[in-house]
Amino acid sequence: MSACATASQQADPPSTSFTPTSSAASSASPITVPGLSTSVSESPTPSPTPEPSTSTPEPAPETTSVVDAPDDDYTPPVEQPTPLEPVQTQDPATQAPAPAPSGGGRVVVIDPGHNGANGANPDVINALVDAGFGETKPCNTTGTSTNDGYTEHQFNWGVATKLQAILQARGYDVRMTRTSDDGVGPCVNKRAAFGNDANADAVISIHGDGDDASARGFYVMTAERAPAGAAMAAQSESLASTVRDALVNDGLSPSNHLGSGGLWKRSDLAGLNLSTRPTVMIEMGNMRNSADAALMSSSAGQQQYAQGIADGVSAYLGAG
Ligand SMILES: [Zn+2]
Repeated sequence: MSACATASQQADPPSTSFTPTSSAASSASPITVPGLSTSVSESPTPSPTPEPSTSTPEPAPETTSVVDAPDDDYTPPVEQPTPLEPVQTQDPATQAPAPAPSGGGRVVVIDPGHNGANGANPDVINALVDAGFGETKPCNTTGTSTNDGYTEHQFNWGVATKLQAILQARGYDVRMTRTSDDGVGPCVNKRAAFGNDANADAVISIHGDGDDASARGFYVMTAERAPAGAAMAAQSESLASTVRDALVNDGLSPSNHLGSGGLWKRSDLAGLNLSTRPTVMIEMGNMRNSADAALMSSSAGQQQYAQGIADGVSAYLGAG
């Protein structure tokens, strides 16, 4: 099996626009040569009113004339600015500690956990599906919520869409396992297959936890049973620790309750047990903890989570 996916060429690298500095032209001092009276730096003044040039103007028909007045055709002489230092626009999404701003079209699959209509469709989401290693699990679940009723599927969707925007701006080919927050599913086995079929360079599954009120912080999970062999498991673990480090760098705290140092290997999660690509599942915080709930319910908090994950993905893929 291939341990290293070939970067896809289909996505364009992020474009950088080139804007010559306007000061470049004015920085060149005109040279006055005695005896030479003609200044070449002055543009000849174009005639402001283009003339119909020939013959007698006729009364213009009101709507049917196909002969354009030449207003748009006149190109005034352009002074060529001296190319000094190009000014490159900086994409706002790549500011700050973006470790590897060029995704090179590599595929990142984002899996926002659960879905908005799961709760209304128990017959669908309770159906048992393949969970890997000969086991079965329900197709999907509803997820948790804060004490104020802000749902996990909303949180997951908010972080996922923000993460998508950041990674796309960095040149990654980003694909989502679901494309709205008001549908049902997909089932966990379909979500895993989505990343496998995409030959994803990294798969990020986003969740929020519902734990004891005193528990706080995130943890990044990987499969304990190595469904695609030791080499792929090592890649997942590298992805996990790199994302953990980036989340910490971006101001978020590892869980004080579960896992160790923000990492946790699990044997019971179908999304991990069925994945053959570098995959992590992240519980971003505990929705039953008041401080985490406040952060997770806010757009700014979700942006902070997305930024941390994006920086981790960039660092991981940049090193690969
Ligand atoms: Zn969840």
